[in-house]
Amino acid sequence: MQKVEFYRHNIGQREKRAVCKALDGLFLTTGKLVEQFEEQLAAFLGLPHAVGLTSCTGALHLSLLAAGVGPGDEVITTPMTFAATALAVIQAGAAPVFVDVEPGTGNLDARLVEPAITSRTRAILPVHLYGQMCDMRALRAIADRHHLGLVEDAAHALEASRDGVRVGQLGDFVCFSFYPTKSITCGEGGAVGVHTGETAGLLKALRHHGMSHSASERYGKDVSYDITRMGWKYNMDNIQAALLIGQLERAGKFLDRRQRLAALYRKKLAGAPGIRFMDWLPGCVHSQHVFTMLVPAEKRSLFLAGLKERGIGSAINYTPVHLLKFFRETYGFKPGMFPAAEAIGASTVTLPLYPKLRNDELDYVVRTVKDLALALRFEDSLA
Ligand SMILES: *Cc1c(COP(=O)(O)O)cnc(C)c1O
Repeated sequence: MQKVEFYRHNIGQREKRAVCKALDGLFLTTGKLVEQFEEQLAAFLGLPHAVGLTSCTGALHLSLLAAGVGPGDEVITTPMTFAATALAVIQAGAAPVFVDVEPGTGNLDARLVEPAITSRTRAILPVHLYGQMCDMRALRAIADRHHLGLVEDAAHALEASRDGVRVGQLGDFVCFSFYPTKSITCGEGGAVGVHTGETAGLLKALRHHGMSHSASERYGKDVSYDITRMGWKYNMDNIQAALLIGQLERAGKFLDRRQRLAALYRKKLAGAPGIRFMDWLPGCVHSQHVFTMLVPAEKRSLFLAGLKERGIGSAINYTPVHLLKFFRETYGFKPGMFPAAEAIGASTVTLPLYPKLRNDELDYVVRTVKDLALALRFEDSLA
């Protein structure tokens, strides 16, 4: 039987050599390579500053803190995301307030944000779902009107833009993940892009125990450190940076390949009964972080079992966060509260999509999806 992995990373000889070189150096922790990656990432984004961290969750946590979010505050976000988005809000001491998503894109519905604002709201935290950007112009206007922080979860959307606006340009903070299934990876890693040196300096203190000077800044100099504020331990190290630098240079090439494969999926699966797709908006550069489709909800578990039986990796992105046990029990969320997110959550299936996916593997996935749609009589479920 053919086997199609859900994901395969893009780490190659170049990254392996860079890691060996980093290991031969003196500073394994945050040092010159991290600075080099931060400058490269900032240039890639068209922002003045980026700060390297150990995860996107940490990036969201510190961004919310730097935006002034704390105990007793509320942060408006989307339930159609990975749980880390909402958990970061709680880590910052605040409560997540969900609003529903646009049915077509799965992105935070900007029209629902303003009615959800209370005297406790401190920030808005949109997620660029699957790699297609939210309506950042609308969200920026709302944040300005109500003096709220705007933190972008761009874990899916390193390369994305919408109507000429890139991720991070309209938000106060833009957060990235370098987890193994993301477009570039160092195993575990993350970063934040920001607009001022002052904010970057604050994030650098927060990522490192609130320390005034890091070890590499003190090396060979007559300076000691102080702890000037409460901090955490989220600093990216030189080994992680060594893995990322070469991949970021190739990010455009990886994106081209993912876009080509996603377009092929859409073309080859078009018209298959009972299968629907998310909207791709005009004017968007879609990062194509994952390729999702919608299948009849009541047949999804049989469909997923069929993919597995035939050697094809798949995933569900996502079960809406408000339906997860901890969130239901802690905040009293219930099914029915966010119907658009729940409809996507009940029907969505993610297929393999990554630069190393071969065309013959894609064809096998397409053939299998069509066979299963027939065998499970998807056409009877057409609403
Ligand atoms: C992957 C992901 C995260 C978490 O990233 P980590 O680097 O694993 O902390 C956060 N939000 C979204 C939308 C993600 O997909």
